[in-house]
Amino acid sequence: MTDLFIGGQWTGSIDERTREIRCPADGSLVAVVDEGGGKDAAEAIAAARQAFDQGPWPRTPVGARGDLLLRVAGLVERDKAALARAESLDTGKRLAESDVDIDGVVACFRYYGQLVRTEADRVVDTGSEHSVSRVVYEPVGVCSLITPWNYPLLQTAWKVAPALAAGNTFVLKPSELTPSTAIALMRLLAEAGLPDGVANLVLGPGAEAGAPLTDNPDVDMVSFTGGLRTGRRIMAAAAGTVKRTSLELGGKNPNVVFADADFDTAVDYALTAVFLHSGQVCSAGARLLVEDPVHDAFVEEVVRRARGIRLGGPFDERAQTGPLISAAHRAKVEAYVAAGLAEGARLRCGGTRPDDPALADGYYFLPTVLDRCHSGMSVLADESFGPVLTVERFAGEDEAVRLANDTVYGLAGAVWSGDEGRAERVASRLRLGTVWINDYHPCLPQAEWGGFKQSGTGRELGPSGLAEYREAKHIWRNTRPRPQGWFA
Ligand code: NAD
Repeated sequence: MTDLFIGGQWTGSIDERTREIRCPADGSLVAVVDEGGGKDAAEAIAAARQAFDQGPWPRTPVGARGDLLLRVAGLVERDKAALARAESLDTGKRLAESDVDIDGVVACFRYYGQLVRTEADRVVDTGSEHSVSRVVYEPVGVCSLITPWNYPLLQTAWKVAPALAAGNTFVLKPSELTPSTAIALMRLLAEAGLPDGVANLVLGPGAEAGAPLTDNPDVDMVSFTGGLRTGRRIMAAAAGTVKRTSLELGGKNPNVVFADADFDTAVDYALTAVFLHSGQVCSAGARLLVEDPVHDAFVEEVVRRARGIRLGGPFDERAQTGPLISAAHRAKVEAYVAAGLAEGARLRCGGTRPDDPALADGYYFLPTVLDRCHSGMSVLADESFGPVLTVERFAGEDEAVRLANDTVYGLAGAVWSGDEGRAERVASRLRLGTVWINDYHPCLPQAEWGGFKQSGTGRELGPSGLAEYREAKHIWRNTRPRPQGWFA
């Protein structure tokens, strides 16, 4: 077995442990992969450190780094069908969704391949003719890149592309549940000509293979996407050596519908906002806030249509959404719904596993709507990360904003209104990293992505996504050095 990639070599885990990867849609065996731990992580960090300190990559001109990223984009595009299939087998998500994800991976590599070559040093006016001053941008160093299972290759691309563009070396640790496309990406990076040791891959669970990547003194930066609790742990682990941390954590995202919104369109999007990928989306519109005059009719229609959503595996063309990632995750979603009901929420649909025997071997859960939700309930505070929509009622702009912002999270959300002025006013008051107006979910490599509040620190994508992986260095040159005579 050789699934770890360290110093340009494919290798097995030192402790010779393996893990079965099973498709969440039917439990079928997808692959058996090496499972690494602390010793493998240490070797990968050492390889990345050496490649950073002694290898050519950090000193490779930005044009050549950009060219390599564009070659990677081309290789991902060439292998799109296989990558999308692998992603769907690991995650259980529909093939059509994986296709979109892989397009996003290509776009991300292409964007940073182009952006990095347009980035130049900055000349600073010193106010003196005897000095010149400039700010140059250098890579941060060795980066630990830790990613979740819901968008495995896309989340990886959002880190790998800017990290490489900036000249860093890295150790990637994907989720232990969905390693297949990370393994494939390492092959493509090598094929594109990336020098040995720049990209390293360690597989394994967070506590054993991930944690050692967050406190090792040879690591300069940790970029993490995952849950809030893990994010807090990583921030604390990184504090010992004051590493730069970039954290993309969860969301409890409000989808705010005013009475003057286009009813049918807003209903349509309310469903995709939350039930796409069975709600396993960090920006899922899991909190529906509806203005009083249309509340009852709107919720009625959402429920009617949620009942009709067809579940199925990745290659079932009739399926509209798929399974949850694991039995353990489904149990968490079930506990979340039970807690909501115990607190007084009303179950409008779903709330159970489907009874279709064809779905019995997968981790399916029916699209669920809970209404009569109000502040103080755990279902409004916690991320379910499943196909569960909570509904709140509001009257007017001020209450909409107050309820929407009443969460520790601040990742994304939407405002629906036929009044452009109102939509813009509310958007400007929402404490969220992304606000959609009369839309839900679009995201572009050119536009920053990330969270306010406890949804994270830093930004991915856009120019800020590159800045995360760079240090700014000010170089001042005195062109006519003379004694100053201060202490003469
Ligand atoms: P998770 O936090 O359980 O795991 C994420 C990654 O961290 C995995 O690779 C895991 O092995 C690793 N890990 C776990 N413990 C660790 C530790 N102590 N040290 C180092 N690494 C550790 O999250 P998940 O269940 O894989 O993903 C779902 C979460 O990710 C949700 O909360 C979701 O909102 C969030 N997410 C956020 C974004 C975003 O852009 N903000 C995008 C996707 C997912």
